[in-house]
Amino acid sequence: MDFHGGLKLPLNHELTIDKPLIAARPPGKVCVLLSQHSGSPAVAAVEPGSRVELFEVIARAIGSVSCDLHSPVAGVVEKIDEFVHPYYKYCQGIVIAADREAESTQPLSFNEAESFTIEQIIEASKKFSVIDTVSNNKPLHSKISGLSKGSAHYLIISFVQNEPYIHNIETIAHIYLEEILSCVSYINEAFGPAFVFFALPYHMVKLITSIDNKLNQNKSRYKNFKIIRVTDKYPQANELILASSILKIKINSAELTRNNRCLILDAATVFHLYEALKFSKPQIECHLTVSGYGITKPANIKARVGTYISEIIEQCGGFCGNVNSLIVDGLMSGYSQFTLEVPLVKSNRSITVIPTERLSSAGEQKCMRCKKCIDSCPVGLNPARLNFLSRCGAHEQAAGEGIYSCIECGVCSYICPSRINITHSIILSKKMILEANVRRRKDNESV
Ligand code: SF4
Ligand code: SF4
Repeated sequence: MDFHGGLKLPLNHELTIDKPLIAARPPGKVCVLLSQHSGSPAVAAVEPGSRVELFEVIARAIGSVSCDLHSPVAGVVEKIDEFVHPYYKYCQGIVIAADREAESTQPLSFNEAESFTIEQIIEASKKFSVIDTVSNNKPLHSKISGLSKGSAHYLIISFVQNEPYIHNIETIAHIYLEEILSCVSYINEAFGPAFVFFALPYHMVKLITSIDNKLNQNKSRYKNFKIIRVTDKYPQANELILASSILKIKINSAELTRNNRCLILDAATVFHLYEALKFSKPQIECHLTVSGYGITKPANIKARVGTYISEIIEQCGGFCGNVNSLIVDGLMSGYSQFTLEVPLVKSNRSITVIPTERLSSAGEQKCMRCKKCIDSCPVGLNPARLNFLSRCGAHEQAAGEGIYSCIECGVCSYICPSRINITHSIILSKKMILEANVRRRKDNESV
């Protein structure tokens, strides 16, 4: 399975792929940011000085596309203020001083049920605040709440990751494969799709074999399950690209994905849903690949949401050599950080530390009309033209030429021999159009 354009990037898994998943030290303090999902941020439901228990709801969802937030520690709320967010500049957050003694050491109670209704699955995703990373961190309940039995013809479980250094889904899948397969069975029985596809890139040879063996051991339970090998190109993990390349149809938006009767979830989301259904456990952890040649001890780490990146770096032995950048969630689609005092959010999947000598310092040159960006754009846009329009301030014209189809994958910027940051221009244009629309709406309301 392949798609037009994209990039074959080096995987750079050698530093971490054979290492075990280790739990980060329980943090002494956490900062739970209120924006952990797409849609409206949650609103704090506690006050400074409040005592909170592990898993207690500390912030409430506002609106249908939003999630409650649960405390990842037992402790006392220190303050509620603005803090640095790994994706946005600033965001409100709740700082909790952890009281490790107060945390129960009792194992979580286990739900013996082996099947769940659609309503129970939606309810558990909502109550335990599971987010879906494949659809830009949308609350899972809002993604699946419109579905009824049989309304999704295809269920695609994605294990795909193609950005250098990151393999947290593969790590989770090796350890929790039984749990992931069980949960896919629950979803399959409840939602009744005709086909369940496990999308795995070619390089995950060991995992493909393990899943294949499991499916063969219980053919009656997994009768409509099938492994689909997909290309190792970036951005194959993108929900729309994945659906297009597997189903061989052109899909332009998440809404169309639904119209095409296709539900896509990634394996990490399925694992968190399993914990919600079987252990009533809220999503309070993230699984990270901490890698790059600028970190002393690269590792696979399970950390509580709200843990500061500085603590993770310290537990990985600190930096080695001169560090140029620390990037969260991928060299292509992630975010460069300007401080280490940034708390982790649910959707974080990697921390990559790049030493200075690995980065080129060449500056931007004039466009040489080589068309490499056009040939590589996975959604068939003309990035050079969009960049030109954006830099001339012709944002509305860029909208007319399809700027909203851009999935912000960064391929055009990466491939450009003139080192033009095309993706940045496109993101800027989208922001300007949005701001102009808001201004227009306000002006119309005031007339
Ligand atoms: S960032 Fe947008 S324009 Fe550039 S390659 Fe990706 S989809 Fe195409
Ligand atoms: S890849 Fe860069 S230099 Fe080549 S056409 Fe696109 S913007 Fe111009």
